[in-house]
Amino acid sequence: MVIILKNNISNNQENNLRTLFRNKKIDVIPVLNRKNKMFVVTGRCGEMAMKEIESNKAVSSVIKVNRAYKLASKSFKNSRSVIKLNELNIGGKEIVIMAGPCSVETKLQINHISEGVKLAGCKVLRGGAFKPRTGPYDFQGLGEIGLKYLKEAARISSLKVVTEVMDVRDIEIIEKYTDIFQVGARNMQNYPLLKELGKLRKPVLLKRGMWATYKELLLASEYILLGGNENVILCERGIRTHVPETRFTLDLNAVAYLKHETHLPIFVDPSHGTGRANMVRAMSRAAIAAGADGLIIETHIDPRKSISDADQAISLQELTKLVNEVRLISLAVGRSL
Ligand code: PEP
Ligand code: MN
Repeated sequence: MVIILKNNISNNQENNLRTLFRNKKIDVIPVLNRKNKMFVVTGRCGEMAMKEIESNKAVSSVIKVNRAYKLASKSFKNSRSVIKLNELNIGGKEIVIMAGPCSVETKLQINHISEGVKLAGCKVLRGGAFKPRTGPYDFQGLGEIGLKYLKEAARISSLKVVTEVMDVRDIEIIEKYTDIFQVGARNMQNYPLLKELGKLRKPVLLKRGMWATYKELLLASEYILLGGNENVILCERGIRTHVPETRFTLDLNAVAYLKHETHLPIFVDPSHGTGRANMVRAMSRAAIAAGADGLIIETHIDPRKSISDADQAISLQELTKLVNEVRLISLAVGRSL
């Protein structure tokens, strides 16, 4: 249950409501987002108490949600959430494509890629500067200098930036350079990180863990929403299956399922989802046909020379083809690009 307070209530009125919760032993978590002050009821609340809450002067409405995740659920909000980044709308009618290298490697590399990403018709430049690598001897990313290159490249091309944050201790520095925080698959359940990002108002692209259920993904998003940050984008990036021929199995069921369960925008990453450059275009088309609100794609000026994830990087020419094909699919499903 979510209790939404009226705007402009006095401190006294709010305290009376809190006293009511205390007396009735109703456990709540307060949430303050850009629009509303709310209380999420975490425990049980009987019919009688519910009536009293509903008629309390401070309360605007009470929304019943019969899911473990409350703020992410469709019962809480039935209209689709649109995240606004200046003139860019994420989750609206228009499909948004984010693209760029797996890792920022050099200033020249990211500048070249950024230009190609813009020309292809994408709106957001991706690139990792803090990389989650399987082996500790693998390239770990350029760190802050990589963020500088990324931001500057995006500025020149008038693109927004998305980059990964792995550690609470890096949030402050990454925030200076990015428009969207990416939480990678391996950190989907890094709860201290999610809670900290919930305190900010910058959008968070939350990738599904390769092991995670849909419910676990939605509950992870709830940690961010509960902090008052409503700007969460969910991202399907493939799961571990018995199939050895692809790096992961891109689970497009997730898109259709999540569309019914949540109002949050849903993105798909066909690069990690397949691990194979020659499958990325096909799975991009399929993702948009399934109802995804956007894509995040790995591209490189010289794909085979990518320092990380070379097998799945597509060329800028291929990216242009991809965008043109996805544009046609977008129109067929009542979207635009
Ligand atoms: C990435 O985007 O480069 C990445 C590491 O993604 P994921 O967390 O989905 O593996
Ligand atoms: Mn990658």
